[in-house]
Amino acid sequence: MTNEIVNPPERIYKTTEKHRADQKEWYRLHREEALAWSKRFRDEHSEELKAYRNRPEVKEKKRENSKRYAAKRVPGEQARYAREWRAKQAAKRPKRPPFDPVAYRKKYYQEHREKIAEYSKIAYQKFINDPERRARKAAKLREKRRNNPEYQRALRAKSMSKPEVRARAYVLQNKWKKEHKDMVLAQVNRRRTREYTASGSFTVLEWKALCAFFKHRCAMCRRKRKLTVDHIIPLSKGGSSFISNIQPLCQSCNSMKHNKIMLPTITGPLFHIGEQTSVPLFTF
Ligand SMILES: [Zn+2]
Repeated sequence: MTNEIVNPPERIYKTTEKHRADQKEWYRLHREEALAWSKRFRDEHSEELKAYRNRPEVKEKKRENSKRYAAKRVPGEQARYAREWRAKQAAKRPKRPPFDPVAYRKKYYQEHREKIAEYSKIAYQKFINDPERRARKAAKLREKRRNNPEYQRALRAKSMSKPEVRARAYVLQNKWKKEHKDMVLAQVNRRRTREYTASGSFTVLEWKALCAFFKHRCAMCRRKRKLTVDHIIPLSKGGSSFISNIQPLCQSCNSMKHNKIMLPTITGPLFHIGEQTSVPLFTF
């Protein structure tokens, strides 16, 4: 057989450092070519190569070599080498940034915007049409608000910093004030009493009873007018805000009286002026 592979002949030249370097350089420049050539050779001579590998003397040599390497091997060395190699490869790869769930969700939302909007619409419709669920949610919210008054205050302050919200609140507040005039009156009086560091307060009910007692007329001129709260002994002169120190006056009488001390001009049960009690001392 002419194609049979034989062992290489004895080397006729001595391998020098320079020769080795030249070989290395050639291989570097012609790597692809060399690999292609080697592959072609292996493909063309596969049968012969197989026969060569199966020769008893070649097999014997392979066994010897493998024994030699096994003797040289340090336990654990192979594993260490593999580990190092893997670490080296990992270092070569570009580093992936750490996982950021917020950014991930954001990206997901942007990519699926329409789908999410569609789903949330359906979910909202389901919620809106279920009175039981709505009531549950409202109760939960109320509970939350009750438990976190400071948080609620902060939230309110934040929302009130927006001009449009403030404008809306202002309209609502005015509406409420118009519908609850008596309560506003009591509120204003509480504040005024606080300002004068005077004592006492009266309730809406007490004020209504007082107005009814005066037959919804001014306590001085007896005309049927819009009634205002007047302190018989003014707060500025040490009067209190108990109902016993209050009389209903029309606006003009109230302005005229200013901070003088004047008693109601009607006959009837007398008020115990200045007495520090919230129990109304009149009958009706
Ligand atoms: Zn009057």
